[in-house]
Amino acid sequence: MAFFVIYPVAKQLTVACGLSLGLLVPALAQAPAVPATPPAAWAQCLDRLQPQAAQAGVKSATWASHLSGVEPDGSVLAKLDNQPEFKTPIWDYLAGLVDDERVADGQRLLAQHRSTLEAVAQRYGVDPATVVAVWGVESNFGQSFGRYPLVQALGTLSCFGRRQAFFQKELFATLRILQGGHVAPEAMVGSWAGAFGHTQFMPTTYEQLAVDFDGDGRRDLTASVPDALASTAHFLQKAGWRPGLAWGVEVRLPKGLTLSGEGRRTKRAASTWAERGLNLASGQPIGSVFPADAPLGLMTPAGGQGPAFLVSRNFDALYSYNAAESYGLAIAHLSDRLRGTAAGGAPMFATPWPTDDPGLSRAQRREVQTLLLMRGHDIGEVDGMLGDKSRQAIRTEQARLGHEVNGRAGQKLLQALQRP
Ligand code: CA
Repeated sequence: MAFFVIYPVAKQLTVACGLSLGLLVPALAQAPAVPATPPAAWAQCLDRLQPQAAQAGVKSATWASHLSGVEPDGSVLAKLDNQPEFKTPIWDYLAGLVDDERVADGQRLLAQHRSTLEAVAQRYGVDPATVVAVWGVESNFGQSFGRYPLVQALGTLSCFGRRQAFFQKELFATLRILQGGHVAPEAMVGSWAGAFGHTQFMPTTYEQLAVDFDGDGRRDLTASVPDALASTAHFLQKAGWRPGLAWGVEVRLPKGLTLSGEGRRTKRAASTWAERGLNLASGQPIGSVFPADAPLGLMTPAGGQGPAFLVSRNFDALYSYNAAESYGLAIAHLSDRLRGTAAGGAPMFATPWPTDDPGLSRAQRREVQTLLLMRGHDIGEVDGMLGDKSRQAIRTEQARLGHEVNGRAGQKLLQALQRP
């Protein structure tokens, strides 16, 4: 399955959080200057690529109809070279991705699409809560597909900047998808790097794994929820998902356990972990969830003082969707909350993150933005996304409040702003 070598790298480019750094994940950065895309170089590049596209199965009429009149978009090149301006702690990342709102939305959609999800589980062996959790984290259940026209974005990346050969393959795949009539041209929008639809597949991943589940003859990840849900399950099945196996569990570590050398990839039998004194966070034995010989890795994303997890090969399947442990944990935890099996029904984990200033839900981020507006800051729209303008306003308020000036919004800032 060669695509698994390439795919996670591609997906890393598509999200603000796509690096496996454990504790720290990069966040949105300040918009850098837009690189130049000279018109002559653009025209020459398209002339050079067209025969290659033809060799890759893109008819000249398809090429002409989708690329004539298209101008390059330098803003995607700025994204390509973006260096995060600061690191987001994993507790901020998870607080925004797995909040009460997303759990409520997910539960409503689980009920709404129950028969489809059951049929998907029958065919691919992936349970409804997991599929819906991926949907929620990838596109907020279809509400955030991204805003970049794919042909324009991938065309630009095919002609300018780093990794042109990689993006050329994605461009050609996009054109083949359009040529096949699977996705409406105006619906072919997505992330700046080319991930699109409910499941945010890259075009080459689409070609390998997307399925037509509603039986209309088209594999449409933008307009068909059944196609999208089934394609996600198909991806996880190919990534090694084992039906009926838990992704993992939160555990309580015994005092003095050596963490050095342990991690997601270092798998040991469940019975070995039990012998070393680990129990579920609920106090139950590990054997109540996993068979004795199940290979499990010990993941401590914020170090030994934070929550700890034993994770199975099914966590690795989630990881392969985006090659980031924080991302896998967001999906895994959202799926537990959708099932109602998160530890004690707790909104986060049984062991708190090692911070005295926990992260904010999207509702709380919107409240921060509203409070910043009320204090006269121009932060644009109240959307729950703390972008450049919000971060700048937060810095100003942090300086006024005597807090550390870092642009981060946590519970302490929210509480300070709530005071009159
Ligand atoms: Ca279909």
